[in-house]
Formats: sequence, C-alpha cells, structure tokens
Amino acid sequence: TVRTRFAPSPTGYLHVGGARTALFSYLFARKHGGAFVLRIEDTDLERSTVESVNAIMEGMTWLGLDYDEGPFFQTERFERYSQVIDELLEKGLAYRCDCPRERLDRLRDTQMAAKVKPRYDGHCRGREVDPDKPHVIRFKNPVDGAVVVDDLIRGRIAFANAELDDLIIRRSDGSPTYNLTVVVDDADMGITHVIRGDDHVNNTPRQMNILRALGQEPPRYAHVPMILGADGARLSKRHGAVSVVAYREQGYLPEALLNYLVRLGWSHGDQEVFSLEEMIALFDIADVNKSAAAFNTDKLDWLNQHYIQQGDPRHIARLLSPHMGHLGIDPSQGPDLVDVVAAQGARAKTLVELAEISAFCYRDFDAYDEAAAKKHLRPVAREPLTRVRAGLEMLALQDWQPETLHHVVEQVAAELDINMGKVAQPLRVAVVGRAASPGIDLTLQLVGKAATLRRIDKALA
Ligand code: GLU
Repeated sequence: TVRTRFAPSPTGYLHVGGARTALFSYLFARKHGGAFVLRIEDTDLERSTVESVNAIMEGMTWLGLDYDEGPFFQTERFERYSQVIDELLEKGLAYRCDCPRERLDRLRDTQMAAKVKPRYDGHCRGREVDPDKPHVIRFKNPVDGAVVVDDLIRGRIAFANAELDDLIIRRSDGSPTYNLTVVVDDADMGITHVIRGDDHVNNTPRQMNILRALGQEPPRYAHVPMILGADGARLSKRHGAVSVVAYREQGYLPEALLNYLVRLGWSHGDQEVFSLEEMIALFDIADVNKSAAAFNTDKLDWLNQHYIQQGDPRHIARLLSPHMGHLGIDPSQGPDLVDVVAAQGARAKTLVELAEISAFCYRDFDAYDEAAAKKHLRPVAREPLTRVRAGLEMLALQDWQPETLHHVVEQVAAELDINMGKVAQPLRVAVVGRAASPGIDLTLQLVGKAATLRRIDKALA
C-alpha cells in the first residue's frame, strides 16, 4: 500500500511551499487509500525549535492536512541511525576518514582551479584509520555506472556515480547527517513515494545508493517544482506573507488556500474550484507541472471571495468571529453574526475585510467615508432623513423587520415624490458611514432601532 510522508525541518513556520508539498503527499496517500506520515527532521539542534514544530502542526491542522502516523522526531532515533552506520561500516560499505581540514581545503582549491566540481577523492577508502582518534564516516559510493531516477514529475534523470562523493554519514561528533537519516527513516517507515521540493533532487541518487547498500528497494520519487513570486524570483518573505498561519491572520479561509495551493502547478482541465474530496478524487501526481509556478495573490483572493460567498454562513461566522475580536468587537453583543454574514454576501475578499465592513452592526463608526458623505449627506438630504427618522421612531420593536422598514423608506419617497435612492442612500451613509451595505431594510434591521435613530440624529446635527 501507498505510504507518503511530509518531512519538514522545524527551523521556521510552515510556509506555502511546504504546505503545497504536504498537500500533494497527503492527496496522493488519500487517493490511493494509503497512509500519510509526518516526520519532523530536527537533527539540526541549533536551528530546530519547539515553536517551529508547533507552528508546523498548527498550520497543518488549520489546513486540515491530517496525518495518519507521527509526528516522528529524528532526534529520538539517533540510536537507530548509529546502528545502521555501524552496520554499513562492518559490511565494508562505509569507511572511517580522518583527512584533516587542510587536506580537504587544498583538494578543493586544486579542483576549483582546474574547474572541476569539488568532491572528496576517496583518499581514506583503503586506509586503516584509528577509531579512537577524531574521524568521520563516509559512505562508499559506487564508483562507476549511473543512478537512474524515474521521477514521477520530471521523468527520467540519470546521475553518473563518478559525479557523486563518498558522502559523510557520521560527523566527527558522532551525529548522523541528513542524507543518512532520511534514508533510514524512509526505509523504516515503509515510505513508497517520496514527494518533496525539487531542491532535493541532487540528494536523490545519493539516497538511492545508500538504500541499495542497505538492501532496500528505493521508493518512487516526485520532485515538486518551486513556487516563484510575481517577479519570477523564488517565493520568499520579500514577497509578503509566506507562512500559512499569516494567511489565516489575513483572513483567508483554509479551503481557499488549499484550493489555491493545489492549483499551483497542478490542473484538471480548466476547473478552478475544488473541494478537498474532489482534489483527492482527481489528483494525479503525473499531472503536476515540471516548471515552477508563480504565486498570484489576485487568484487567491478570487478563490477566497468565492468560498466566503458560497460557504455556509454558520461556518463563515465561526471563522469570522476571531477577526471581529481583533477589532475589539464581541459579536455576542449585537446581531447574530450568522445573519450579518448572510446579509453581507460576497462583499469582502477576506475575513479581515468582512470584519471591517461588518463592524457597523456592533458599534458606531468613527468617521464618514468622505466621498460618500459629500455626495449623500447634503442639505437636500435633511428633509428625507428627518421624515424617515420620524417614521422609524414610531415603529414598535417587534416591527423592526425588513418589510416594515422597507415600507417606511418607500413611504417617505412617495410623500416627497423622489425616488427611493434619494432616501435610502443618505440613510445608509448616516447609519453605516459608507455608501455600500446590504439592502437598506436588512441594514437597518442589523443595526437595530436605538443605534439607527442615534446615528440619524448625528447626521442631522
Ligand atoms: N527536511 C527536508 C526539508 O525540510 C525534507 C527532506 C525530504 O523531504 O526528503 O527540506
């Protein structure tokens, strides 16, 4: 059965590139009824932090990328790595090397001067090295032939063994190196498909050689191209938010970000909107593009707006609530947030925007939108506003309903023989502070009687 993994190094938050790699691994496992494993590659003790581990898991939970096994931590497996290195040593598939720094530097300089790719020359391969003196352990890479990677995305890539070093697998302090730990874990965890960023493509032949030395059949590999910013450079902090949690804070829905990420480098006909179930059903690793994809915030915004508009208002209200909180608003003090969401429809691209344009339902605004006030709160608006206020004041609280509210506005327009907009727009600006809001009847209902009258008074003052 299929087993995939996501293997982040916890040296920062979960960024969108990592999240997309995780998503592809997740979809591939789900599609094939397999297992998705989370492995934390925390062997770099100086750069790995518990905060990063938490941030990565928080990001995955928010996106709904649930894993079946893990998290496994590499730092808990040092004994196992040691055991494997010793085994390679005993079988003559690895060797001790005590080449001093100066020798390696000189070798490197010579090779650079001769314009050949610097690589270890195998000096210690046949030598006896005193195990009690400082040394590293190197993997005995095959000297001839080629390693062929049948990459599920990039196709066939061949690497000549002559190009590959005798890689260090144990440092002089006894710690195992990255390529060794990945190989041992992928083998022990029964990983069948390694889906990861293409920055690892050059590690793959080395890892395959080590796996074969261990008597293991290498998994299949799929190297996902990187994500670029709008300027064509690799996506980074420079381009704005890259952390998944930052998108949450900016008011993106997890389903929108997931949908956006799956389309970054993958497509299914010209379909743009995919539920998670559809992604699982339709995803095929072979359909992932070979070339890098550029991050496009407009498209993400479009999807986000789509999901805000189409989502169940109860679901959107739940996600919106913390954003109201950030504005200092307690949504339990005022109209039901679900009604507010339902009324606002698709007016906002993000939940942050939705919170901002919904604040008027819970508290008085500070200032009018200048253009709106200039256009609609002119002297000619005094008469309709005064009349509409009188009509509204007379309504009993149980009549504060869209139909009756609409009727009051309509009545004033009829009395003054002007069209309804000449009443509704000044009223809207008076009550909302801006010229855009849901229908005037819904708007007044959400704001409530007391606040409506208070705000009209303020506009007339
Ligand atoms: N820990 C590696 C990284 O975060 C991933 C290794 C792998 O997927 O094989 O780049």
